[in-house]
Amino acid sequence: MNVRASSFEQGPIRPPNEARSLLLRLTRNCPWNQCLFCPVYKTRKFSLRSVEEIKQDIQTARNIADDILALSHQLGRNGAVDDEVISRISNGPGYSQCYRGMAVWMYYGTNACFLQDADNLIMKTDDLVAVLTFLREKFPEITRVTTYSRSKTISRKSGESLKRIRKAGLNRVHIGLETGYDPLLKFMKKGVTAAVQIEAGRKLMEAGVEVSEYVMPGLGGQAMWREHAMETARVLNQINPHFIRLRSLRVPDRIPLYENLKNGSFVMQTDDALAEEIRLFIASLDGITSRVTSDHIMNLLEDVSGKLPEDKEAMLKVIQSYQDLPDKERLIFRLGRRGGAYRSIDDFRRDTATYQKINLLIQNIEASEGAPGVERYITEMVDRYI
Ligand code: SF4
Repeated sequence: MNVRASSFEQGPIRPPNEARSLLLRLTRNCPWNQCLFCPVYKTRKFSLRSVEEIKQDIQTARNIADDILALSHQLGRNGAVDDEVISRISNGPGYSQCYRGMAVWMYYGTNACFLQDADNLIMKTDDLVAVLTFLREKFPEITRVTTYSRSKTISRKSGESLKRIRKAGLNRVHIGLETGYDPLLKFMKKGVTAAVQIEAGRKLMEAGVEVSEYVMPGLGGQAMWREHAMETARVLNQINPHFIRLRSLRVPDRIPLYENLKNGSFVMQTDDALAEEIRLFIASLDGITSRVTSDHIMNLLEDVSGKLPEDKEAMLKVIQSYQDLPDKERLIFRLGRRGGAYRSIDDFRRDTATYQKINLLIQNIEASEGAPGVERYITEMVDRYI
């Protein structure tokens, strides 16, 4: 068998913080697939993969890793996957995408593995335990295994099952909580209630699994933003997850929510209103020790991040510093942020050359298309990331 041309199956997405994790696919697509705001699996059908098939993929991944180690020794690098090994693999003919991806994973040495796709706890506990055990046997160097799952699915597992899964090697579950406001969960067809989300989060925590809850600023639109912010904080205050990750709503034309946008039954938050929504959300987090991150490119204020409770004031200050900017400067910051020029308000303050360029760009767009043209330009830029 030609190891260099071999591959294993991988799915379409992973969380931003798993960019350098080894990706293995346990199930295909999403078994729920109804959320109005979700662009990911809409045209694809969910299916389970058999334990044998997944084990075969893990074995292929191991064979590739061993081949890369052998190449490293052959090149006199003593098993290190460094620039020279990477360059040989990147420039050589006949290497599969998976082979190259594995080399990059070994180069970064994160020792982390993310299991795709959207809801792997839907697997039978025995099957998931068998897969995790095999993965840990074949890759003893892996120190962190994470996956996505739905609260509803997690709530159906017994505490005992979750403990077995944890013991077999699953360290962390990323959950798309999105909102804790029941009317909004219903409107968005999330298929879960706030009470079930609390139950699921707590169950995982009790089983010793790290919990990472994704929240979606903007999801309440202009009608429900306040309840969205406060109820989501209320739910999280009862879970106290390890991580709270912000990933703001965008509505490209390929998702169901776009219809609501067109017919006026959903109105997007403006960036300024979104800043106020996030301020209210952070201010309402109380009595918990979670780490908050905004590490998604679609977030306006990436540096709203820190550990609760000690960094709460600093996070609120970041939002305030955006809100205190004069109108023109907020517009320049927004355009620069959405175009990838700034990551923070500090960048914006430091980089005067970029400031001047963006200012000129805004003047040009306004001269030809007026103020709505600038807003269109910003929307187009941010939607590129979806
Ligand atoms: S459960 Fe997750 S992956 Fe499935 S449709 Fe909803 S947001 Fe998308």
